[in-house]
Amino acid sequence: MSLIYEPKGKAREYSPLALNVYSGGCDHQCTYCYCSGIMRGGWSDAPNPRNLLALTKEAAQARRQILLSFMSDPYCSAERTHRKTREALGVLRSYGCSVAVLTKGGTRCLDDLNLFHGWQDGRVKIGATLTFNSSVHSRQWEPGAADPGDRIDALRQLHAAGIKTWASIEPVIIPSESLAIIEASLPYVDAYKVGRWNHDKRSSAIDWSEFGKSSVDMIRSACKQLYVKIDLQPYFEPGYLTAEEISMETLTLPDRQQERILV
Ligand code: SF4
Repeated sequence: MSLIYEPKGKAREYSPLALNVYSGGCDHQCTYCYCSGIMRGGWSDAPNPRNLLALTKEAAQARRQILLSFMSDPYCSAERTHRKTREALGVLRSYGCSVAVLTKGGTRCLDDLNLFHGWQDGRVKIGATLTFNSSVHSRQWEPGAADPGDRIDALRQLHAAGIKTWASIEPVIIPSESLAIIEASLPYVDAYKVGRWNHDKRSSAIDWSEFGKSSVDMIRSACKQLYVKIDLQPYFEPGYLTAEEISMETLTLPDRQQERILV
């Protein structure tokens, strides 16, 4: 099985290619985690570092944006022991790949700041999944992940260092919390991907039209790039969202144009 693969279905909305550096679990322990439901081999709180020996060959072939990661978090606590994300980034950087990182690990990602600097053509961006503004709610729903304030701090430091930043607003479990953390992050985030809350009956009680319009208007007024996920799009009046705001390619980094090895 390839390390770099083409995500299918809803996952494709995030990136044309993806790479999971850990398997079998994640120590962030989000109560809404989708992985436990789709992993046939089981899912635990202990992520397994994957063997990345084949990555060099695959990175040489990958021209489109690669997302780290769909399964487990690239900056889970275990990364400080295993350093598999650092290993993968080192390979992808050396081949000039386009890379999007998405994490709830907060400032842990700053351990690799030196790798983000000087990436070929700036084709790397670091994103945070923003779910709650309140630490209390975050501890309840995602007890092992970084505190919301730490995630904002990571975005602030990345932005100050000139690294592209983005945020994924999903799942939206308490809309007022999602709106509050969008507002708090606006000075440090270049682009937003906004979705809803799926796979849970309680989401039917949420006014998705109201949340959708409030979030889009806030992000637009700050002149940030925006993609509205397919599941949220039906809650807008026809014509409200622009073609760019509903195009999966809007936030995708440019392809690598040529083979080039930097190290
Ligand atoms: S960070 Fe992602 S993979 Fe890890 S537990 Fe949370 S939802 Fe699951």
